[in-house]
Amino acid sequence: MSVQTVKETLARVAAAPSPDVEDLRYLLAREADAEVQPILDAADRTRRQFMGNGILLRGIVEFSSFCRNTCFYCGLHAGNTRITRYRMSAEEILESVRRISSQGVQTVVLQSGEDDGLDPAWLAQVVRDVKKRFGIAVTLSVGERPREDYALWREAGADRYLLKIESSDTDLYDSLHAGRRLETRFRCIFDLTTLGYQLGCGIMVGLPGQSLRHIAGDILFFAERRFDMIGIGPFIPHPETKLRGLPPGSVPLTLRTVALTRIVTKAAHLPATTALGSMGRDYRLDGLRAGANVLMPNFTPVEYKTLYEIYPGKRCVSEPTGACALCMEGLAEGIGRTIDYSRGDSLVTQAVTPERP
Ligand code: SAM
Repeated sequence: MSVQTVKETLARVAAAPSPDVEDLRYLLAREADAEVQPILDAADRTRRQFMGNGILLRGIVEFSSFCRNTCFYCGLHAGNTRITRYRMSAEEILESVRRISSQGVQTVVLQSGEDDGLDPAWLAQVVRDVKKRFGIAVTLSVGERPREDYALWREAGADRYLLKIESSDTDLYDSLHAGRRLETRFRCIFDLTTLGYQLGCGIMVGLPGQSLRHIAGDILFFAERRFDMIGIGPFIPHPETKLRGLPPGSVPLTLRTVALTRIVTKAAHLPATTALGSMGRDYRLDGLRAGANVLMPNFTPVEYKTLYEIYPGKRCVSEPTGACALCMEGLAEGIGRTIDYSRGDSLVTQAVTPERP
């Protein structure tokens, strides 16, 4: 009976442009294997229908660990004096991009904390150099900035921007970010979209105070905003943050969130996040079976990537730089998929038709 209810609810959610929050909450709350499996299977079918069998790669370079923010969950928060901060030089970044490009990966994600020392003109020149030398897609992920900076980087050739919202609920957002406002993220999302960036968003699952209803609201937010990419990972407590000692986000709930996001967004790129791979065993494989179609190998030089500690136990942090891409081939093969070395631009603007699971 309850499996039948799950199937009927799934059919409604998959067919609605704006699914009912209560339906999403009901599906997120399923825990019995017999009830969860139809959700994961429907997500896998939707992924195959809209994205195919290829797994796209985005090479990430974490180029600065300086951050002015005080996000309660993040190891890079400004008050953490126990970490060594670094900023990579333009030459070091270009060398990392050379490694990415030489492995056939066609997207670089340049990420940093919200670094007050980041000169927008310097980053614009880095973007121009990357485009000129390697011609690959550039995603920036450097947080909240004025529209002028986003415009400058877009003119320099940046293609995409990754700005996770962490939670689309104002009260929950406020409880995790002293002195910062969700409206600022909305303003940034508006600016980035109107400047023509392909836009990535995302949330953490398992934040303190987060209910299933919050997550259902986030999934609805993703469905309505039609983001090009959506990253969903479990919250992992960091010992040098206010949230130390709290339990990490649940992997099964994270997987159900990924699956329902696939079912409602159809053609958004969904990474199997590094956080999902950093929870004891490598749950990225489960993410790839629950609707995800992207992996993000880390190309930060090894001497820096151990210092970019947003949460502890980050996957492959001591692996030699660039070893990841080879490992990705193995991961894909293990689940009967292949690595897709194309740029992986957005598919969201293409015609989307609902599928009944
Ligand atoms: N500063 C940029 C920004 O704010 O968008 C990008 C860097 S920020 C460190 C990248 C992401 O790390 C955040 O969006 C958040 O989702 C994730 N993150 C930070 N702390 C985390 C934690 N303790 N557990 C899981 N993910 C975390």
